Amino acid sequence: MDLRYTEEEEAFRLEIRAWLSAVLPSLPAKPASTDWPARRAYDTHWQRTLYEAGYAGIDWPVDGGGRGSSPVEQLIFKEECEFAEAPYIGTGFVGLGHAGPTIIAEGTQAQKERYLPAILKGDEIWCQGFSEPGSGSDLASLRTKAVRDGDEYVINGSKIWTSHAEVADYCEMLVRTGDDDSRHRGISWLIVPMDTPGIEIRPLTTIGGSTEFAELFLDDVRVPVANRVGDENDGWRVTMVTLSFERGTGFVGDLLESMRILRSLTELAKRTGLWGDPSIRRRIASLTAAFDGLWALTKRNVSEAARLGVPGVGGVVFKLSYSENGQALCDLGLDLLERSGLAASSIAGADSLGDLPNAELVEAWIKGISLTIAAGTSQIQRNIVAERVLGLPKEPK
Ligand SMILES: Cc1cc2nc3c(=O)[nH]c(=O)nc-3n(C[C@H](O)[C@H](O)[C@H](O)COP(=O)(O)OP(=O)(O)OC[C@H]3O[C@@H](n4cnc5c(N)ncnc54)[C@H](O)[C@@H]3O)c2cc1C
Repeated sequence: MDLRYTEEEEAFRLEIRAWLSAVLPSLPAKPASTDWPARRAYDTHWQRTLYEAGYAGIDWPVDGGGRGSSPVEQLIFKEECEFAEAPYIGTGFVGLGHAGPTIIAEGTQAQKERYLPAILKGDEIWCQGFSEPGSGSDLASLRTKAVRDGDEYVINGSKIWTSHAEVADYCEMLVRTGDDDSRHRGISWLIVPMDTPGIEIRPLTTIGGSTEFAELFLDDVRVPVANRVGDENDGWRVTMVTLSFERGTGFVGDLLESMRILRSLTELAKRTGLWGDPSIRRRIASLTAAFDGLWALTKRNVSEAARLGVPGVGGVVFKLSYSENGQALCDLGLDLLERSGLAASSIAGADSLGDLPNAELVEAWIKGISLTIAAGTSQIQRNIVAERVLGLPKEPK
């Protein structure tokens, strides 16, 4: 690791800190976690605020309309946002983190002009239609079919686990344009307007009581061929290109939030007397060491990305370790609440119980279940570490 902050970077930190302290007090109240239209409005308001101050697309290149900040500046920005408890990217996640960077790298000039400014300004929200029933980890087996009819594709099939589909304007969708058994050689990347006739959105309610994601049913959905990003049947490569934008800062906010929760759990253990239990102290110590290690790994990944201009392998190791330790943190939280963990939660719309942070901890525990599934399961991350980092033999097909 060679991360040292220069004078300019320290000045940038102070600039961000001052801006956040000026702007955050005037934000509207955070909406209920189950009210998706209100969440969209809240997220897009924050995105517009960032845009007007010149901080939108901090990790986007300048020719894509972003700020083109260095990996170190991105780290500083995310760190200051988390310390100040600024809003999370929220429903803007797919547009800002995935669809936008893909269009910057692979889109036509017309696509860039049409879609990028609207993402940066918070005017349009995107969702991701990759997973299908039976095609999650093995994404290359996806079966949603797009057949060419003149200057349109006609799409039939279904998608699942499409986060924020209910409030999205566009979907970045992977479809099969090649033969049924063409796997990753027969996939195309399409921009699908969510109000196109033939799209049925069936929200899925999670155990947290929220319709966080949905199933999409696609029945003769017509999309212009001009909405394809990249060549026909080249959508797999297009998808992989997006990942090259990641500079090791993708999980900075999540990690710092986990460290904050761990600090408050330590206080809680001391307050409730559970600190006297050596097994609780051991778990707190182990998580403190793990998160400190992950913070060091983050800085190493950022240093590497700044030096080489491309992400290293540390991101996969980070995702694997962070998601498993994140779950251990959530388990610790519920164990510290003891029986009161059952007494109140945000699911029932209840607030914290007395001075115990029930609402936050129960919600974190419920959401924590998905940490080792979303964006690639732990088993798949282990396969990647084994094959690409350690050079072990490939998994037999
Ligand atoms: C909160 C959340 C949000 C999501 N949002 C989106 C979204 O917006 N858009 C989208 O397209 N998808 C989304 N997903 C879906 C996510 O990408 C998939 O759930 C994930 O890729 C796993 O696929 P699957 O659910 O089909 O499980 P499967 O692939 O069926 O896996 C089932 C189990 O088998 C294991 N397994 C599978 N293959 C192997 C192997 N080769 N070796 C060892 N073990 C294996 C897995 O690790 C897992 O434990 C989301 C998921 C979550 C949890």
